[in-house]
Amino acid sequence: MMCECVNFTEGEFYQGHFDSRAYVQNFYSCPRGHSDEKDFLSFVLGCLSRTFSTGKHKGQRLIDVGSGPTIHSVISACDFYEEIVLSDFTDNNRREIENWLKHEDGCFDWKPVLRYVCELEGKSPSDLETKLKQRIKKVLKCDVRLENPFYPNTLEPADCVITSLCLEAACKDIETYHYALHGISKLLRPGGLLVMVGVLGETFYKVDEQLFSCLRLSQSNIEDALHGLGLSVHEFNILKAEDWENSSVSDFEAVFQLVAQKQPY
Ligand code: SAH
Repeated sequence: MMCECVNFTEGEFYQGHFDSRAYVQNFYSCPRGHSDEKDFLSFVLGCLSRTFSTGKHKGQRLIDVGSGPTIHSVISACDFYEEIVLSDFTDNNRREIENWLKHEDGCFDWKPVLRYVCELEGKSPSDLETKLKQRIKKVLKCDVRLENPFYPNTLEPADCVITSLCLEAACKDIETYHYALHGISKLLRPGGLLVMVGVLGETFYKVDEQLFSCLRLSQSNIEDALHGLGLSVHEFNILKAEDWENSSVSDFEAVFQLVAQKQPY
């Protein structure tokens, strides 16, 4: 099944139709992720943990671009960066994160995911949660289709940028994808680290019954785009989907996590 969307679902569609709560409930309630997407999440969490727990990568500022309503992408990194900025296009997504930061009643429970990362890293879940909440300083609006995704704000150059499952959801074609990646790389200081999580070969995913489109990408599409921007790819980790024909929530062929570095100049 290919995406039946006539128009690519862009940011404005997310603002009106993306159910933040259903998204985290469906995909982030347990460390394995959605039952139709075998081990998707544990693969991602494991990769992020291996990247950051070496302690090789550290600095002052970390930006996560297109966080959605989630915080999992910065759990393993939060020990190594003093100021973390999360971001998303939609108000509801940013509000969902704010509610968690403020311990609001009924906020989403990230404990199962936090516990899983702590088991991998031999840490205490409550200490980690406290640290994470301390270090997430802002949750900002962003639009990756802009040259400066944080316009009208200008952020100080980051030591690390993380982005997970955002660009393929936000960019309707490969030109837009290149442009967005360029904007993201400009957020990094020279020598800074880009960590990206994404899907290969996906054309759609669903949140409950709502369909969202996805830009179908290959590994070489992504590597070419990164090389074109002067980023060197250090790692490209891939988990192939099994039985993805049977999955009703998405049609990804593989999930990946990559680590790239901007030229040091
Ligand atoms: N990072 C999260 C969420 C991915 S879902 C995760 O790994 O699960 C895709 C996200 O892209 C949604 O939160 C959606 O609001 C966001 N998005 C869509 N268009 C965007 C745009 N133009 N700029 C920034 N974010 C966008």
